[in-house]
Amino acid sequence: MKHWKSLPLVLAVSLAACQTAPVADKAVTPVAFFEVSIDDAFWNPQLEKVKKATIPVCIDQIENQTGRIRNFENAAKGEGKHSGIFFDDSDVYKAVEGFAYSLKTNPDPELEAKCDEWIDKFAAAQQPDGYINTFYTLTGLENRWTDMDKHEMYCAGHLLEAAIAYYDVTGKSKLLDVAKGMVAHIMDTFGPGKKDWVPGHEEIEFALVKLYGLTGEKKYLDFAQWLVDERGHGFGVYGNGWNPIHYQDVVPVRDLTEIQGHAVRAMYLFCGMADIAAYTGDEGYMAALDRLWDNIVECKMYVTGGIGHLGHSEGFSADFDLPNKEAYCETCASIGMVLWNWRMNGMTGDAKYIDILERSLYNGVLSGISLNGDRFFYVNPLESDGNHHRQAWYGCACCPSNLCRFIPSVGNYVYGTADNTIFVNLFIGGSTTVDGLTLTQKTCYPWDGKVEIAVSSSKARNRAVKVRIPGWCAGWTASLNGEDITCPAESLDKGYLCIERKWKDGDVITLNFDMPVTAVAADPRVKADEGKRAIMRGPLVYCMEGIDNEDVYTDALLEPSTTFETVFNAGLLGGVQTITARTAAGDLNLIPYFSWDNREASPMKVWIDHAE
Ligand SMILES: [Zn+2]
Repeated sequence: MKHWKSLPLVLAVSLAACQTAPVADKAVTPVAFFEVSIDDAFWNPQLEKVKKATIPVCIDQIENQTGRIRNFENAAKGEGKHSGIFFDDSDVYKAVEGFAYSLKTNPDPELEAKCDEWIDKFAAAQQPDGYINTFYTLTGLENRWTDMDKHEMYCAGHLLEAAIAYYDVTGKSKLLDVAKGMVAHIMDTFGPGKKDWVPGHEEIEFALVKLYGLTGEKKYLDFAQWLVDERGHGFGVYGNGWNPIHYQDVVPVRDLTEIQGHAVRAMYLFCGMADIAAYTGDEGYMAALDRLWDNIVECKMYVTGGIGHLGHSEGFSADFDLPNKEAYCETCASIGMVLWNWRMNGMTGDAKYIDILERSLYNGVLSGISLNGDRFFYVNPLESDGNHHRQAWYGCACCPSNLCRFIPSVGNYVYGTADNTIFVNLFIGGSTTVDGLTLTQKTCYPWDGKVEIAVSSSKARNRAVKVRIPGWCAGWTASLNGEDITCPAESLDKGYLCIERKWKDGDVITLNFDMPVTAVAADPRVKADEGKRAIMRGPLVYCMEGIDNEDVYTDALLEPSTTFETVFNAGLLGGVQTITARTAAGDLNLIPYFSWDNREASPMKVWIDHAE
């Protein structure tokens, strides 16, 4: 989807008149969320709670409970103190980006007016030379651009993403002008023949690629690549004394072999590299990303898709060092896994990346937000003594504001397109129309493995529909208009069932994915999970909470003879499929991991002792 396609006609014409939107060389181009309508028993409540609860929480926190919006007001006046953390501006930008996504599918004049009100404040806080950052404006502009860990470019990147989203949705360019002013200031200051700079927290790189996609101005792509290639040459100057490993700044990015350092920063760097490679075909970037993906998936990822176990650095530890109670697994890092794996699928057309995206999405990301949408996890451990709870907000509020922009745009991950091909990546009820062909999914996924995809077309069309067969699924069947089209696994195309035909109105693809309860063992090199099993069903990881298992929690022991029963409990936790494990010592009651800590405090564990 090209950004300008959705713009008001006048703007679209004026943009199209002055430049051609660049085309990325991708195996799969995602269908944008606003081209995907969601009508789904699992996801509609998620979208609804963000609209009803998360967005109001963000507004209240930004305006009333914290000094975030006041920082902009003070910066505009050039007086008053900065309150909070030096990168708090980014939360406000991320909230605006989330509001824009919500506006796209749920027009709301009051919310749009709130955005406009904030955008006026951002614009007023911008310096004459384009610089915008309330921390330095209020603590001493003479100190700006002296510490690469002070997130000036990180905030600028989020400003840019918010600006593009808001422009895309409303056609209003005020915020985009502010963001482009900041980018112009940055590009005047840094670049080839100017000053070196290594952004301590990556993010601006892929935001710049988005700006290139919007404007067609290649200087933004070139500058993004220059920033990425600055890493690993000793240019980094970080005020807080972290090792360059923390910043992925030890070797040039094409030489990276092991994933290290801060988890969210690593994810955002890899997103930037993939986005740049999509336009430049940089094989060095893609070869590095392949190596890093193998490293993370085989050695450094939790069963929930969570990553980065170390709390003090919010980062990665050694391979297979994956303790459960101490697992940090920041919500933003799981969102980063979705963003990165989505791009890797786009570059390769391989469904294995969607398998990881789905694992992170349904477990590591969704656990970050409460059932009511008004409380958030920053840290997502796989075991708790009962003292770890979601909070209304955080001093460092990256996770709530990230969820605010991520969930309303979840439709991005459902479908993709390529020449004469539509990809079905996730199983979420609703529909999309690509090039005259409409796909409508009906499913109770992830609770049930049956998916119906109705295909309709105004006239018969030759197309391939590629349906992802999930990597977790050992047994499945597929039919087309009642005729069996199941094929052996080796006949799948990079994990997709490919159905090529002249589609006509009334065609229906029916899939049945077996969803048995499985007890999963970890890689034997993970000491923390020795002699334990995690319970999974479909894409979901399950856990035991003490509240459901008063007599058996502590001594819970799975056995080879343990049998499982599963039932949908409409009255529990907003409606979840529960699992009962029948063991010699009694029944163990399990709920989906994402839904834990939504009742009174009690201990929780994902990995359960297992008798050999
Ligand atoms: Zn976060």
